[in-house]
Amino acid sequence: MNATQRRRTQNETMSRIANEAIEEQESPGEGSTAAFLCECTRPDCERLIELTPQEYRRVRANPRRFIVRPGHESGDLEEVIEARSAYVIVEKLGEAGAMAEAEDPPA
Ligand SMILES: [Zn+2]
Repeated sequence: MNATQRRRTQNETMSRIANEAIEEQESPGEGSTAAFLCECTRPDCERLIELTPQEYRRVRANPRRFIVRPGHESGDLEEVIEARSAYVIVEKLGEAGAMAEAEDPPA
């Protein structure tokens, strides 16, 4: 993995840390959504994704998986696991996966 890919993987981890806080704050009833940050590799991406904290936790249960807006996937670093209308679940591959796992903040 080169320096740019490394930095891009770190961007995702930063978004995840912010989303952890959102997930902890939100305790809405079953089925209501909260706005989470897009966890893509773009440093300037501030797009939001509406999903329930329950859904977020389900993705988050695997440290290599991230949620991104449709079209924000990085084909060189991750593969698409599940495509929904509002978001895409991606899983980091190889070195990027190991890095995401190592930097995974405690749940
Ligand atoms: Zn994005």
